[in-house]
Amino acid sequence: MNIIITGGAGFIGSHLSERLLNEGNTVTVIDNLITGNIKNISNLLKRKNFNFIQHDISKPIFFDSKIDQIYHLASPASPIDYMKYPIQTLKVGALGTYITLGIAKRHNASILMASTSEVYGDPLVNPQKETYWGNVNPIGPRGVYDEAKRYAEAIIEAYRRFHNVKTHIARIFNTYGPRMRPYDGRVVPAFIIQALKGEPLTVFGKGKQTRSFCYVSDLVEGLIRLMNSNGPGPINIGNPDEMTILEFAHLVISLTDSNSDITYEPLPIDDPKVRQPDINKAESVLNWVPKVNINTGLSRTIDFFRETIK
Ligand code: UDP
Repeated sequence: MNIIITGGAGFIGSHLSERLLNEGNTVTVIDNLITGNIKNISNLLKRKNFNFIQHDISKPIFFDSKIDQIYHLASPASPIDYMKYPIQTLKVGALGTYITLGIAKRHNASILMASTSEVYGDPLVNPQKETYWGNVNPIGPRGVYDEAKRYAEAIIEAYRRFHNVKTHIARIFNTYGPRMRPYDGRVVPAFIIQALKGEPLTVFGKGKQTRSFCYVSDLVEGLIRLMNSNGPGPINIGNPDEMTILEFAHLVISLTDSNSDITYEPLPIDDPKVRQPDINKAESVLNWVPKVNINTGLSRTIDFFRETIK
């Protein structure tokens, strides 16, 4: 198949590109590299059937050859990134999704949009089912990401209803693994690097807020299954293994054999207090459950960061 991946030079996109290429597809990555990194795909650039186009998908782009599938992953995705690039985040969620849908419509291609657990905001129910509408502050600092993704879901759904485009919405929960950026501010790279350097782990608030971490290969498998299913979604893709951030800090300290302490810093505005995916729908519709447990996934990720910060 001829597959486009917007944001394919990012953390998740590069893993997805590699897997789809290994399965014999032709993969074209579109990325403007504001948070993606060419190094993530440097080993793919040499391969035939792989193309890279540096382009901001918020602006039009046209393809002559037939396209079968489009994974629309492009967006700043960590809280410090979307606070640094608020307008770009809103533009890629809105204009970028609109342009990607236009390509899908013209080529009669299937499209999968990477939505997010952030559409649930600071959720008042836990775990979150796809039927939950969320609790989002539209004008808070995270609103630029949350509302961009909510808009993206709305326009995806409209193109499915009114133009019969084959659409799929994946709501991605916290994902981790090799190729995360060391300093993207997210808790996984932050704690691992702090632990490896023997620095204190910066727990925000009292660390009682919860997250559920999914290893990247499981996530990629879920995305591919959703794209090749008949279901439009939205479907939660994440690992339901929920823990507090303080528990996570202790786990990182233990897996890295670190002497680091823990320090407490203020909780960012609108930081969700709980987050856990209900994955019953993914299980029944896609026959998908995550396979990599947190100890295995974190150990692989720690090895990656050990090399990165050498
Ligand atoms: N967090 C933390 N210390 C850090 C970075 C993050 O305690 O150095 C917390 C953050 O407040 C949030 C959780 O870890 O409650 C996950 O944050 P992350 O930025 O990874 O992603 P989010 O799930 O908030 O989008």
